[in-house]
Amino acid sequence: MSALVLVVEDDPAIGSGLCRALRATGYDAPWAQTAAEARRLVAADPPDLVLMDLGLPDEDGLDLCIALQREQPDLPVIMLTARAEEMDIVVGLDGGAVDYITKPFRLAELLARVHAQLRQREHRHRVGDAAALTTLQVGDLEIDLGAHRVLLCGTEVALRPREFDLIARLARDAGQVVTRETLMHDVWDEHWWGSTKTLDVHLNALRRKLGEQPGEPSRVTAIRGVGYRLERVRPEPR
Ligand code: CA
Repeated sequence: MSALVLVVEDDPAIGSGLCRALRATGYDAPWAQTAAEARRLVAADPPDLVLMDLGLPDEDGLDLCIALQREQPDLPVIMLTARAEEMDIVVGLDGGAVDYITKPFRLAELLARVHAQLRQREHRHRVGDAAALTTLQVGDLEIDLGAHRVLLCGTEVALRPREFDLIARLARDAGQVVTRETLMHDVWDEHWWGSTKTLDVHLNALRRKLGEQPGEPSRVTAIRGVGYRLERVRPEPR
């Protein structure tokens, strides 16, 4: 799928020229001539990047930029500025994904900037996806599989390796019952046979370490004769 680059520019010659060049490069390039139109287009179809003129007829480009990034923090914005002093303002913006280019600009340079911003954004997304894959969030628990850490409301809980494996296994199927046999197989030994009493002992230790008192509703629900379920939301204390 081609990237969606929204052009926000009230000057017809510059706006149409930009859109033409972007489309020729293979991007989808809708064009807004006012800030209001830009907001409407962004809401209807979030772009991958915005090329924005700082001087818009109905709203200051900076305000629009800040508003768009508040809603979509990862949205790269390249500002088109006419004057050097405007450039200073843009540089002073505390936005990681904001770039600027002064008019008159060379089209090739602008396209190179667009391309670079889109590549960086794609990279950020890939890294973000990888982190999401190795971290399981279940209610107030965050289980970092890569680092072997469990955070409870942001505070690390010291767990033994077996306890960690147990909570991680339950978290993989949060909200569903994991049978005793599956837990013994996956957490202890694939050839486990005999008593599964050790499972209950470890679970009780785990609950204590998660700050749960005996008799209180637990994040981990025991289903008699079947197994355990890690609740997506911690039950309210009675
Ligand atoms: Ca303008």
